[in-house]
Amino acid sequence: MKLTGLKGIGEKTEKAFERLGIMSVEDLLEFYPRDFEIFSEPVPVMGIGYKTFAAVRGIFTDPPVSRRIGKLSITNVILKDEIGGSVRVTWFNAPFMKDSIRTGKTYVVRGRISRKRGVLQIDQPKLYSPEEYDLKMHAFQPVYQQTKGLSSLQIAKAVKAAFESGSFQEMIDSDPLPEAVRTKNSLCSREEMIRGMHFPKTRQDLETALRRAAYEEIFVFIMTMKRAESSIRPAAGVVINPDERTLQVLDSLPFELTGAQQKVIAEIAADMSSGKVMNRLVQGDVGSGKTMVALAACMNAAFAGYQSAFMAPTEVLANQHFETMTRLFREHGTDIHAGLLTGSMTALEKKVVYDALEDGRIDIVVGTHALFQEKVNYRNLALIITDEQHRFGIKQREALAGKGVDPHMVVMSATPIPRTLALIVYGNMDVSVIDEVPGKRLPIKNAVIDDSYKDNAYRLIEREVRAGHQAYIICPLVEYSEGCEAQNVEDYTEMLRDVMSEDISIGMLHGQMKPAQKNEIMAAFAEGRIQVLVSTTVVEVGVDVPNATVMMIEDANRFGLAALHQLRGRVGRGDSQSYCIFVCNSRSDSAKERLEILKTSNNGFEIAAKDLELRGPGEFLGIRQSGELSFRNFDLYRDADIAVRAKEDATEILDGKMELSEREQRILFEKTDKKAGTILL
Ligand code: ADP
Ligand code: MG
Repeated sequence: MKLTGLKGIGEKTEKAFERLGIMSVEDLLEFYPRDFEIFSEPVPVMGIGYKTFAAVRGIFTDPPVSRRIGKLSITNVILKDEIGGSVRVTWFNAPFMKDSIRTGKTYVVRGRISRKRGVLQIDQPKLYSPEEYDLKMHAFQPVYQQTKGLSSLQIAKAVKAAFESGSFQEMIDSDPLPEAVRTKNSLCSREEMIRGMHFPKTRQDLETALRRAAYEEIFVFIMTMKRAESSIRPAAGVVINPDERTLQVLDSLPFELTGAQQKVIAEIAADMSSGKVMNRLVQGDVGSGKTMVALAACMNAAFAGYQSAFMAPTEVLANQHFETMTRLFREHGTDIHAGLLTGSMTALEKKVVYDALEDGRIDIVVGTHALFQEKVNYRNLALIITDEQHRFGIKQREALAGKGVDPHMVVMSATPIPRTLALIVYGNMDVSVIDEVPGKRLPIKNAVIDDSYKDNAYRLIEREVRAGHQAYIICPLVEYSEGCEAQNVEDYTEMLRDVMSEDISIGMLHGQMKPAQKNEIMAAFAEGRIQVLVSTTVVEVGVDVPNATVMMIEDANRFGLAALHQLRGRVGRGDSQSYCIFVCNSRSDSAKERLEILKTSNNGFEIAAKDLELRGPGEFLGIRQSGELSFRNFDLYRDADIAVRAKEDATEILDGKMELSEREQRILFEKTDKKAGTILL
């Protein structure tokens, strides 16, 4: 059903939804909130200095004053809190506020904090009575990913309208989970799931819905893999023997490879010379040196006269790998040629690379998805490396096979998962583990703090910057999202420029920037022209700037531990002492307890295991836990048990051991057939 069929959605709004990938009412119903907001406890005025959003309780002693500047009407009033602090409150184009405010009455004023020449004010806040606010503090407000012209609130409204449409009923009826599976695993109905994912009344509602959504996703995934398995694997692969020259390059590196790196390099070399197609997952914690392991394989291919493609999840990372490679090959006087291919290059620049790939002048090409577009023809591609677990769709593989190649594949991942789970999720891949991190580095110093300690944190950052180092600060959101308390990169950067010493250069980075702009910012940071980088988790994957010594993560309780561990892995890469600061303003003990795990451990596998133990109804709600990008609802850590059950159920069904009605089977197989085109394998 088309979106315009819903009340209140016209063609313009439809276009905005399209930008979020929502083309139909069904898409909308499956567009789950990225997070939930629970209103936090009001703070006194003196507590808002480092905030970009806050709720303050107080009274208005004098009535508001309105004035006009051109077409704009501005309404101002002073809010006084209970301990003598006061702050200006401003509304734009809301002259009616003048009449709706009662002086002397207590309000909770919740809004965005802005700074005019260092003076703080609260902009466009919503007003609540203390009783109203108290109720809000216990309710779940969905926060959707938004886009220009479409706020989270508007999306929530549209979802409510969608519940009334025929599409909702259809979705409930076409449940891919057979009755028997649902009962066996005590999963809720599809209706409860969809409602609970959007508008849970309690945490329990949300958890019930999440569990079912995760089950459904991994179950359909496993079913699809199992049904496709027979058609995927052709067996013969190009024989590539390890080359003496590769060893020479490795031997002359400024560091010695760890035993684990050597072991995995050998495992890959054995695969590639075996005559069978390699399909290997390489797991290794952040900083374990996966890039060099992959490069060793690429070099062997190049010396044997074959091409390799090295696929990175972001342009930033692709650029970085390209730099590393070219430097390495040049310094060692090899005649290996590297190329770069990314989406933001001009048509002409791409053409040059296409030509060089076609006639074999490029041996190793690094890039993003652009590497496998139709226009790219390789002369003799024999090896594909995908960094940070981007996986290939069956379609993509078929497209490659259509070009007459069946390359060896290595998938590199920093997500530590137990072997049993890896076997389920990664299907028929062989697994190598780099279980050692290069030794001589100083352990990172960790701290969990709240806003009251922020001052010290900023002073630490200033000190480090003055000593020639650099810092990252991570915020959960890109920009201000109406009513959302989580820190956002844009407002935070402005705030930071205000509170930090003027001579410190502060930059920002987020996923909504144009790739070229991102590359430029990242390059500026790598060269030290930006000293403090405020960013979203786009730096989570793989970025390597050894001069950075501080990682500070705002709203750390909103991230999964695995993601936090990844972020922390961005520092501690050089010889200097590094620091990681987790900012958590949540009062809940479980939130802090989870973060304490990170303080005591620096081992990804251990962290994942402890996180599982402590799981229960944690603080963490919506944001994805693991770095695994292939799933929307299923989480490798949170849902490990679900994967095991889903696999059992899928096996039973395919072996005919579980009874399905004809209708159930039809719906399920229709779903997996549809999925097979898009699922990442
Ligand atoms: P990851 O496994 O997280 O992708 P990288 O490959 O980016 O890690 O390596 C992290 C850093 O460690 C890089 O700067 C790299 O040059 C360096 N490095 C790799 N192997 C070693 C080693 N054996 N000894 C010391 N440093 C190493
Ligand atoms: Mg890496």
